[in-house]
Amino acid sequence: MLRLIGASGPIARTHIAQALGLSPATVTSLTRELLERGVVRVADHAPSRGGRPAVLLELVGGAATAFGVKIAPDHLVGVLVDLDADILERFEVRFDATKEDSVERLADVLESWIGSAASHGQLLGVGLGMPGVVDVGRGTVSSPLLGWQEVPLSNLLQARLGVPVVMDNDVNTLAVSERLYGRCREVENFITVTIGLGVGLGIVVGGDIYHGYGGGAGEFGHVSAVDDGPRCSCGKHGCLEAVVADPALVAQARTLGLITQRQGIRKLRALADSGDPKAREIFARSGAVLGRAVGGLVNILSPELVLISGEGIQGWMHIAEDFDRTLRDHIFPPLNAVAVEVDPWDDLKWAVGAAALVLRATFTPHDERQADNSIRALLLAEPGGVGVVA
Ligand SMILES: [Zn+2]
Repeated sequence: MLRLIGASGPIARTHIAQALGLSPATVTSLTRELLERGVVRVADHAPSRGGRPAVLLELVGGAATAFGVKIAPDHLVGVLVDLDADILERFEVRFDATKEDSVERLADVLESWIGSAASHGQLLGVGLGMPGVVDVGRGTVSSPLLGWQEVPLSNLLQARLGVPVVMDNDVNTLAVSERLYGRCREVENFITVTIGLGVGLGIVVGGDIYHGYGGGAGEFGHVSAVDDGPRCSCGKHGCLEAVVADPALVAQARTLGLITQRQGIRKLRALADSGDPKAREIFARSGAVLGRAVGGLVNILSPELVLISGEGIQGWMHIAEDFDRTLRDHIFPPLNAVAVEVDPWDDLKWAVGAAALVLRATFTPHDERQADNSIRALLLAEPGGVGVVA
């Protein structure tokens, strides 16, 4: 019921009963409980012809909060959001996640952030977006980028912080937030492709993230793209991200002498912006390789929408034309209705996505994760136990 009110509210009790197949009496008694606990409120009265106007119910955004944190190799971005995923506070700090004592220091940072945001009311939990393979069931993360292997991060942090901690791959958190709050609320099958330091993929099938065995689904960046290609961070050769990610573009530009060893992707973008044909050629080739690879994904998954995101988007104007052309060249014609949308770059959105992992737990019908149950229990704590707004 919470999930329905959150997703479709303001909504009348009669519509809740219809949507969930419950009797009007059951809906009345359950919604009364939610109203008393301050999680749901009367939003409005629907106009009606004759009879009493129907009461419309909506979620109380400020009834509880969640923390979301994106963990990058060199910095942390955090947000505190309410139940509507509106940002209440934001945090950012330089952080070296590749050092030995990373988990301890991460716990220290999170503890201080949580402490400074305590005045906003009941915290339901902390969501983490990790650059690596996350086994959601076991709560472990392996990240070659950070040098982490099977770190039981959820349990370690939960023990230190005393609140539920949930995590997922960072691109998956982006997809979760698009599904819950973004443009994919009505889209059951879509993929999010991110470009930047690496190449990422979030797969949403039937409304849910597809994790694969052990959480490894979506390692799109390590799909083989070219024969005898450059060495990838994973140790193989010719992976997609070794050809099209920002470090690969920078390496190509340095080889051509377009930029110096001290200059990076910004300088390369600036050159392309100013019309340098060699710089533009580097982006265009990357677009062509990426378009072909995404075309293959479309043929396998038949998504309704492909969302392109990530910091590499800042060079999209030089990538788009060749991407679009090769994408359409490689899509099986009956699947050509797929739409492609490009998301403006926004670091905070990843952190909001991580917070959405917590918020999703309050709306999910599944019970397989212990942390999800703990989060729901906090939301539905004793009447008056959460900060009631209005
Ligand atoms: Zn690779």
